[in-house]
Amino acid sequence: MKRQSDRIPLGADRPGTERFLRVHRYGAPDARPKAYLQASLHADETPGLLVQHHLMRLLDEAAANGEITGQIVLVPYANPIGLDQIVNQSISGRFELAGGGNFNRNWPDIFAPLCAQVADGLGDDAAANVATIRQAINELLAGRSASSELDRLRLTLARLSADADLVLDLHCDDDALMHLYLLAAHWPEGRDLAAELGCRAVLLADDSGGGSFDECFASLWTRLAARFPGRPIPAACMSGTVELRGQEDVSDALADQDAGGLFRALQRYGYIAGDPGPAPELICEATRLEACDIVKSPAAGVLSYTVELGQTVRDGDILAWLIDPAADDPVDARRAIPARSSGFVLNRRAHKYVVAGLDIAKVVGTEPLAWRSEGQLMTD
Ligand SMILES: [Zn+2]
Repeated sequence: MKRQSDRIPLGADRPGTERFLRVHRYGAPDARPKAYLQASLHADETPGLLVQHHLMRLLDEAAANGEITGQIVLVPYANPIGLDQIVNQSISGRFELAGGGNFNRNWPDIFAPLCAQVADGLGDDAAANVATIRQAINELLAGRSASSELDRLRLTLARLSADADLVLDLHCDDDALMHLYLLAAHWPEGRDLAAELGCRAVLLADDSGGGSFDECFASLWTRLAARFPGRPIPAACMSGTVELRGQEDVSDALADQDAGGLFRALQRYGYIAGDPGPAPELICEATRLEACDIVKSPAAGVLSYTVELGQTVRDGDILAWLIDPAADDPVDARRAIPARSSGFVLNRRAHKYVVAGLDIAKVVGTEPLAWRSEGQLMTD
């Protein structure tokens, strides 16, 4: 079965500015399992755009050979609004310039109406419950309307993805190693994915806070299971944010490698026929997100790192110097930024002139940190 490609118009907030989403579908529209992959919801995070380009080539070949056994939906760019936000020759794709905030926060929460809709329909059969819940999710989203281009974009992406078994949101970090965010309920299920991508960290949470795209529909299942403890409700949507290293890590070689990893993961999870070969070894252990410290800059200034990505640090080790270029005395101009925990350095800031409160490093340890609490684990 050949690829089906569509354009979905997003309407225009201002006459003459209409944009659209491109969507590529592989496999029969009712085939299960269903995977959904989107790229660059933060539109200035370019690696995912190139990974999808390479993944399409692999999926086109598989489709031509009749090897698509499930259903795979690709959205090669998830944020045309952000892609069009060019400010002084640079793309500004994390926040909507019209005031809509971070593109990956405040996704709609349909938990309350979903509970009301499924309460009388749940029984003792897990598969029947999955079907009931998926249908209710689709009906609730079909009944929603949106009044702005941003809300129409969100609703469109939600309708495409919410009933999938696997949802992957392809992002990247600032300057970082490959890593993956998952709900804790999806470990060790996500092990093959993490291994195929060569993840250096897998960060698990039940509710990281902020209403990110990857959690907004996956968490419905775990919350329903807690709300209806007498009914078997599996965590039927494994949804993750893949951080494809850093902003600068964009090349055909890396994207081809990552697309190959995703393709083999899709084979292992039953979406594509064929032998993916021996499973690669996972090179990290999954960690609770509470064990990952986010170190912030105490003031504005110029950063000079003393650590490399992947480097092991101990509590109190200096991660970077923060330098005040306006200070009269160069000796007083330098201020150390220490690690507050032990672990390894997962990310750094790419641009070295920073403002107060900006994240400058993530340090991934093994034990949850006292000051990192569930529901407040993400920053903007
Ligand atoms: Zn992002």
